[in-house]
Amino acid sequence: MRKRILAYGRLNTHQLDALKRDFDVIDLARCADSSDPTFRAALAQAHGLIGSSVAITPELLDNAPHLEVIASISVGYDNYPVEELTRRGILLCNTPDVLTETTADTGFTLIMATARRVVELANYVKRGDWDTSIGPAQFGSDVHGKTLGMIGFGRIGAAVARRGALGFDMNVRYACASPKPALEKELGAEHRQLDDLLAESDFVCVTVPLTKETHHLIGGREFAKMKSSAIFINIARGKVVDEGALIAALEKGEIHAAGLDVFAQEPLDPTSPLPHMDNVVALPHIGSATHETRTAMAQRAVDNITLALKGKSPISPVNPDAR
Ligand code: NAP
Repeated sequence: MRKRILAYGRLNTHQLDALKRDFDVIDLARCADSSDPTFRAALAQAHGLIGSSVAITPELLDNAPHLEVIASISVGYDNYPVEELTRRGILLCNTPDVLTETTADTGFTLIMATARRVVELANYVKRGDWDTSIGPAQFGSDVHGKTLGMIGFGRIGAAVARRGALGFDMNVRYACASPKPALEKELGAEHRQLDDLLAESDFVCVTVPLTKETHHLIGGREFAKMKSSAIFINIARGKVVDEGALIAALEKGEIHAAGLDVFAQEPLDPTSPLPHMDNVVALPHIGSATHETRTAMAQRAVDNITLALKGKSPISPVNPDAR
């Protein structure tokens, strides 16, 4: 019997055709909604899932008796109950590495855009307000030579720091990561306890995964420790930050500005004050969103699910102990 795949992430025609050669594929890319009866009916038949942005709950798994593997088109896997999947013998795979550089580009875009007030001042030109030479009211802050504090120093954190250290002569500090002697040598990075990093950094950039331990890792206490000139960048997950505390810190001037790719609720709650603040650059979770990288991520997920459903080892399993 051919195994069945429920595809709810964007795959190109070539990728879908490759899956269809070996498997029966139910393509629900336009209906990635786990409460939709069509989605639930397909889930009940599926041996494999491929997609992202759908939170997989134990209740959904109860409705998926044949499920063997989930190939997430993402590196973060906070949408999945990993222990529960392992207990049920269901493999979870993700897409590390292929998105690292693109996501780091997004992080550095936010560093530059916030420091040099790019969005605010582009809007100033667009509104027709540029009627005389700009003065101190429009000046920004330098990025080169400043101190970049990385919270999390894994693949993406290191790639952001590399841009800062090698491209902009920044001093790199890192916290919330095991010692990284090779990166210390390559980038001159220095390890700090979190509170010391917050106090020392001109830019604080978060790149930890969202877990029980990192939920609200950065809140009111942490913003109070930062410099009033500090710029806060989040390219990890919205819930790593207490968003209410971030808004308060920006309103009180406890920190200078924020560049945010991720939010506690996505799409962003329309009542949120964040995108309306001049000192906030808010992006719609575009970390890995380039044509090249989204294609590479989907391809990695296709490779993972194909290998796993054929009984082979996938390239990037999250819970290899599941079988
Ligand atoms: P990674 O290589 O696993 O790096 C994660 C870093 O976080 C590591 O330095 C790790 O410490 C640290 N860390 C892990 N658990 C922690 C904890 N409980 N407390 C403190 N630090 C902890 O992952 P990555 O590939 O860089 O990706 C990081 C995250 O970025 C993903 O999980 C995802 O949520 C997010 N992301 C966002 C986008 C976007 O579109 N904005 C795109 C891609 C990824 P050690 O070094 O000691 O292991």
